[in-house]
Amino acid sequence: MLKNKKQKEIIDRICENQSCDEIGIYPAPKSREKLNEYFYFCIDHVKDFNKSWNYFEGLNAEELEIEIRKAVTWDRPSWKFGTMPINQNFQKAFDFFDQQKNKVKNQVKNKKLDESFKVLGINQDSTLKEVKTRYKVLAKKWHPDAQQNIKNEINKDKFVIISNAYKIIIKSFTESKKNK
Ligand SMILES: [Zn+2]
Repeated sequence: MLKNKKQKEIIDRICENQSCDEIGIYPAPKSREKLNEYFYFCIDHVKDFNKSWNYFEGLNAEELEIEIRKAVTWDRPSWKFGTMPINQNFQKAFDFFDQQKNKVKNQVKNKKLDESFKVLGINQDSTLKEVKTRYKVLAKKWHPDAQQNIKNEINKDKFVIISNAYKIIIKSFTESKKNK
């Protein structure tokens, strides 16, 4: 039913060309602004129309750039090509990227600091003096020279791990001092 009605509509259309009585079954957009509205032509006249119809006709250079940009960004221009300094947009993107990078960097740094406090077995809000005292005790205990009778790799590793943790904590103290 529906199909027949549609077919009838098509047959009722006459080619848009003034001097033509053929049935107009080939659509062609009316204008660049009205791409969803069509003229209907016969096969010969739609070919003529396509030949003469230039989509980009009458555009100035800037409008042409916008049309091209629309085409390459699937009709979602992020900025108007040629009307805004492009560098500004790139700069924004880079700034955002840097921010994200620093965020991740800080997260890694904080995690390392957390682990360092755990290695020394002390509280996060210990004072610098407390950290130093704790390190002295642990370093003395695990120093390779103090382990003469238990010479094994695990002890050496333990001393290195403690020393690294201590360095990270001391560094965080000097950095927070700088920030104040
Ligand atoms: Zn025609």
